[in-house]
Amino acid sequence: MNFLITGGAGFIGSAVIRQLIDSSSDNILNIDRLTYAGNLENLYGVCGSPRYRFAQLDICDYTAMTRIFAQFQPDIVMHLAAETHVDRSINGPAEFIQTNLVGTFTLLEVARSYWQGLPDDRKDRFRFHHVSTDEVYGDLPHPDGDPEAAHRRFDENSAYAPSSPYSASKAGSDHLVRAWMRTYGLPTIISNCSNNYGPCQFPEKLIPLMLFNALAGKPLPVYGAGDQIRDWLYVEDHARALITVARAGIPGETYAIGGGNELRNRDLVTQLCELLQELRPSSARYADLITSVPDRPGHDRRYAIDNSKITRELHWQPQETFHSGLRKTVQWYLKNSEWCERVRSGAYRHRPQEAT
Ligand code: NAD
Repeated sequence: MNFLITGGAGFIGSAVIRQLIDSSSDNILNIDRLTYAGNLENLYGVCGSPRYRFAQLDICDYTAMTRIFAQFQPDIVMHLAAETHVDRSINGPAEFIQTNLVGTFTLLEVARSYWQGLPDDRKDRFRFHHVSTDEVYGDLPHPDGDPEAAHRRFDENSAYAPSSPYSASKAGSDHLVRAWMRTYGLPTIISNCSNNYGPCQFPEKLIPLMLFNALAGKPLPVYGAGDQIRDWLYVEDHARALITVARAGIPGETYAIGGGNELRNRDLVTQLCELLQELRPSSARYADLITSVPDRPGHDRRYAIDNSKITRELHWQPQETFHSGLRKTVQWYLKNSEWCERVRSGAYRHRPQEAT
């Protein structure tokens, strides 16, 4: 199969590509604009494979996308390219509307025209898999003061109620994808996943940010009381779920993906500090660096996913516990601290890029 993957130089896309190259005979074309969040170093282990190609392109460029579809002849499009950081979306929403909405629209139009021209057997097996987030559903009731709320989780039938410019742009892109299936018959699948963690995540996101601040003796900023709850999933487990959905998911269906690891932000940061104390002992306690900062506007209080559909129908389940996944993550960052310096400074972007 030919997999065209957008956003493959990012955190999750690079995990998907590494798994596909390591465990299948599929051909991969990675389309990535290499924004600040895209990093080809995430793919050094696989970029020598004859089954892997890369093109530095913007998904909003209709002409370039049309050319690349015609050349590569994808069987599966896995669409991950997006602007993804909620705080950035609050400070500057325009890029989020451009990539997440206009970019998804552009890809859908290119895919539709390409798919309509395919012979029947290839038309039947073509899939457009849109990778989305549980943040499109807004927030769940919080168990503080209402113990019954702990039983409520998002699933494939949850209503859309996004809170931030990021989640609103992702919600809009989900609606476009669903409409292209309903109106034009394009075989699309959507997956909505909870918070990911693991190696190669850009160090603006919670876990790597806290880790590097702690090592530098800087404050560990936790929003408000730190009682926001997230459901954490190890990135390699998400990558396996995405490959499963792309291969075996039913067109028109949505799959909710989550790790079943609900944690308050404050408790997560405390666990991280304890692990760091064990793996990189320090005379000062890392946990003493935890500092409350004013809450983010519109901050969702709780996310949690009911993943029973993908577990039952596609036989996927997470392999890592939060305990084992966090340990692997911290060990990876401790071993790769120069990676972090390079991606923060954008140093890798000045190297010549591969071309298709
Ligand atoms: P990321 O920010 O690490 O990577 C995004 C990638 O997209 C980068 O490589 C970037 O260069 C590329 N990109 C951005 N704009 C582009 C454009 N216009 N054209 C081509 N490439 C462009 O993101 P991530 O965390 O890997 O997330 C990937 C996808 O998964 C996103 O769609 C996100 O909404 C979704 N998701 C993420 C999480 C999470 O916890 N990280 C959870 C659920 C869903």
